Amino acid sequence: MSHVMNTYARLPVAFTHGDGVWLHDETGKRYLDALSGIAVSTLGHNHPRLVRAISQQASRVLHTSNLYGIPLQERLADRLAEISGMNEVFFCNSGCEANEAAIKLARFYGHQRGVDLPTIVVMENAFHGRTMATLSATGNRKAQAGFEPLVSGFVRVPYKDITAIRNLAEHNNNVVAVMLEMIQGEGGINIADDSFQRELRALCDERGWLMICDEVQCGLGRTGHWFGWQHAGVRPDVMTLAKGLGSGVPIGACLTTGRAAGLFKPGNHGSTFGGNPLACAAALATLDAIADDGLMDRAIQVGDEIRTGIAEALKGVSGVVDIRGRGLMIGIELDRPCGELVSRGLEAGVLFNVTAERVVRLLPPLIFTSVDAQALVDVLAPLIRDFLSQ
Ligand SMILES: *Cc1c(COP(=O)(O)O)cnc(C)c1O
Repeated sequence: MSHVMNTYARLPVAFTHGDGVWLHDETGKRYLDALSGIAVSTLGHNHPRLVRAISQQASRVLHTSNLYGIPLQERLADRLAEISGMNEVFFCNSGCEANEAAIKLARFYGHQRGVDLPTIVVMENAFHGRTMATLSATGNRKAQAGFEPLVSGFVRVPYKDITAIRNLAEHNNNVVAVMLEMIQGEGGINIADDSFQRELRALCDERGWLMICDEVQCGLGRTGHWFGWQHAGVRPDVMTLAKGLGSGVPIGACLTTGRAAGLFKPGNHGSTFGGNPLACAAALATLDAIADDGLMDRAIQVGDEIRTGIAEALKGVSGVVDIRGRGLMIGIELDRPCGELVSRGLEAGVLFNVTAERVVRLLPPLIFTSVDAQALVDVLAPLIRDFLSQ
């Protein structure tokens, strides 16, 4: 019996090494990675630039502590500020920690404005993490069940429902922030349309609320822009990052600007590991590779090729509800639960997953090429067709 706690229903495969968009298992079989370890391996596997950056940093110093200056953290914060137009960065190690920082910040902001019970508006089908506060913000009853009492201070509205948020504004004087994913990942690749994003931005400004964008999954180039909110040209007051930031080395970040900046002072928040030199070196190499190698333009092009390829191959097949996404964040919604497709994919040598029960989710590394896209379509489309016709 395994001594690893049983928190994941694991597939019967273990990988020994990776190479670009490929992972290899113990038997020598190779798999096309169209999941990136859930949007983490931005640069695929064993990317030379990332390997070099990590190796060099490892031979110098791994960790010092936030009790001291960390020049690489300064550089990474500068770089993140430059690509986002935001102001300050707090570094941590994961998505839920980045969101915890954002939630604490929103409460802190509320108290400074004289709101004693600050409340954050969150969305149905949202996913923000597994810690108590982020689980409470998450819009998934199954994930919450058994862990009550949940953290208070959240009110939930349907995703993209600006009217519901406006109504809340009329009746609830405790609201201090709205927290959302511009593209819901775990919720099934649901995209907030540009008009909603702009209306929400205007409402937050009108009310003095913080707009908090959880960009943990959709951020960092995946959708063809650095960040999901850049499609509509809005900018949040607070943004959280993690998953793809270190391309496999754990690092998270909470960014602030405008009225959200300058709130935390020494003693208000912290992290032992957050932004250590190794993690920052990995993140800097990741951002540099995305920019220098044109990976965002490629994400748009290759993402389009995957979506149109799948759509053409599945034309006329009943049971396909929708094929949607932005760049290399793609969902194929079917009319029935389709979790078993994942193990069929594994057998056929492609890695993807299924979320929200009925949505095949593709999150390939940003180094995916047109050839990889075609290879993915060639395997995945017949799998879906066979599944739907059985
Ligand atoms: C994965 C995810 C998180 C949680 O990140 P962890 O690193 O697992 O804590 C939070 N928000 C979104 C949108 C995510 O996709």
